[in-house]
Amino acid sequence: MSEKTATKQNEIQAEKHEFKAEVRQLLDILVHSLYTSREIFLRELISNASDALDKIRFESTKGTEITDNDLPLEIKIDFDEKKKIIAVSDTGIGMTKEELMANIGTIAKSGSAEFLKQLKENKSDANNIIGKFGVGFYSVFMVAEEVVIKTKSYKKDEPAVEWRSNGLGDYEISQLKEDIKRGSTIEIHLKEDAEEFAQKYRLENTIKKHSNFISFPIYLEKEKVNTIAALWREPKSSIKKEQYNEFYKFLTFDSDEPADVIHVSIDAPIQFNSLLFIPKKNFDFFGYNREDYGLDLYVRRVLIQHKNKELLPEYLGFVKGVVDSEDLPLNISRETLQENIIFTKIAQNITGQILSYLIKKAKDEPEKYAEFWKEHSRIFKLGYSDFTNLEKFNLLLRFNSSNCESAEKLISLEEYVSRFKDGQKEIYYAFGSSRDAIDQDPHLEIFKNKGLEVLYLYDPIDEFVLSSIRKFKDYEFKSVDTVDLKSVDKFKDAENKQAENEKLSKDDEKHFDSLLSKIKDILGDRVVDVKESKRLTGSPALLVNPDDSMSSTMQKILRLTNKELEIQKKVFEVNKDSKLIRNLLKIFKTDSNDEYIKNVVEELFESALLLDGSLTDPHRLVTRLNKMLEQSSDWYTEIKKM
Ligand code: ADP
Ligand code: MG
Repeated sequence: MSEKTATKQNEIQAEKHEFKAEVRQLLDILVHSLYTSREIFLRELISNASDALDKIRFESTKGTEITDNDLPLEIKIDFDEKKKIIAVSDTGIGMTKEELMANIGTIAKSGSAEFLKQLKENKSDANNIIGKFGVGFYSVFMVAEEVVIKTKSYKKDEPAVEWRSNGLGDYEISQLKEDIKRGSTIEIHLKEDAEEFAQKYRLENTIKKHSNFISFPIYLEKEKVNTIAALWREPKSSIKKEQYNEFYKFLTFDSDEPADVIHVSIDAPIQFNSLLFIPKKNFDFFGYNREDYGLDLYVRRVLIQHKNKELLPEYLGFVKGVVDSEDLPLNISRETLQENIIFTKIAQNITGQILSYLIKKAKDEPEKYAEFWKEHSRIFKLGYSDFTNLEKFNLLLRFNSSNCESAEKLISLEEYVSRFKDGQKEIYYAFGSSRDAIDQDPHLEIFKNKGLEVLYLYDPIDEFVLSSIRKFKDYEFKSVDTVDLKSVDKFKDAENKQAENEKLSKDDEKHFDSLLSKIKDILGDRVVDVKESKRLTGSPALLVNPDDSMSSTMQKILRLTNKELEIQKKVFEVNKDSKLIRNLLKIFKTDSNDEYIKNVVEELFESALLLDGSLTDPHRLVTRLNKMLEQSSDWYTEIKKM
């Protein structure tokens, strides 16, 4: 095989190269552990052929000089049942020797490590995984014992090259002796257990199933097998649901049907067609694939760019699809797209269409919208920064609230506002790790008491969203721990809570004021102030942020990024009506310096810090608590005469 020929200019000597380690690892898995859906190797080769054809068409619209310029753009599949060989040929851009080595000998894409991991864990679903990670070519080794690539680049004076490998450890590159036309042929020598693929019906079915929407003709031994239709240009009324589904699967490699299809055809002022899909599931498995989004951009059916990101804001990145316009110049370069006014208008229109679609869906099919929200809201919420579409975005937000009967129920801001109390001008929210946690938050006591609805936020980004959009209609968002109490106190109490508690005598009121001063002495500069609480009905004390300061969650988020940031001091509020405070008052009146007062105050303060999430060291709290439990157990055994 490796005969050495005298090197003329431009001539390539036969050389052996080893695969990179990650390629070998990948090949090992593909060859040894994947037996299901092996047929997708064909989809991958055809997809590469189609990419190569798209690229040559693109070069040609730019006016580049091209070798064999008059070749028809097509894909050919030949097979020999006896010899067990299949050949997939295209008249695309071809590859030079350097390109062959760079493209086929390595895995260039980021995420290949992630791919390997998923492949190992999820062997049966190779079909879904392979295409998404762009390591398609190697899948051919699931069925091949040897693969030969013969290819000639469109670039001038590049010799034709041959690449040959059995997919084990290395590959060999040499110059082709016979001259060939521009493009590539992938010759597959099938393994014994993969003979079935050298049969006409098997090939034909596989092409129809996976490659029907390839926009170049695919010939199976002279017979055209795919239906090249730009589905997005057909009138909506003529398209069946199955066709949409089939196209979606072709486009995304998703084996499931899409949740939504949005077919847009606009004629004026700018002409464009767009076919958009919202997947049922969020593709972005672990959030690492964030960059992998965009819409395929066509100009008069010619693919200009795969996954163009400027057509779609990042927060709508879950939308898949294509856009095709008559009004863009064919020779537009990818670099100047953004400066093109028509392009920008199309992009804006598409964002508008998607948001309007979602608003309608939320209204007409709230249950389906809830499913959408569950799956895609994490990304969607980033839309708070899209100021031009904020009005629409706000309508699409969903939250759990105190009014809901469970943590799963969601409401819109419109619903919240429709339940406003007379005179209410603010939208209240609380943040916590769960519904239970927020329910027990002392900050909420006054809201419950006044019958005011509060949005329950469980995801830190929610609070980010609210503080960024600031208002819904004319109503500001207020965190329950920063709200100005006057604006809440004016509402009537829902139930009459006072009844069971006797009012303090004038004299005791004075003592209570002194007790507050005493507490202030104890806490010193750890708090901004100590005050009587108007918001508590059950709990003895809590910490609140000074009016209109940052909420505790926001402070926490900021502290994550800036460790130096000091913990903001708070106001310590005391509930005069609580049993504990009343007892403290009794003790205080007898001996204002009783140690017990100090211990209780310290304990209440640190417990409040703990609830607030800003207690840095729990040791003292626990030691003190244990001591108090010990004392109380003494009293308990005494009372119970044990
Ligand atoms: P992907 O298609 O996602 O890039 P593949 O493993 O399928 O990954 O292919 C790797 C690369 O090899 C392609 O990006 C392309 O540069 C090159 N390639 C593969 N097949 C062909 C072909 N038929 N013509 C030209 N280049 C090809
Ligand atoms: Mg590919």
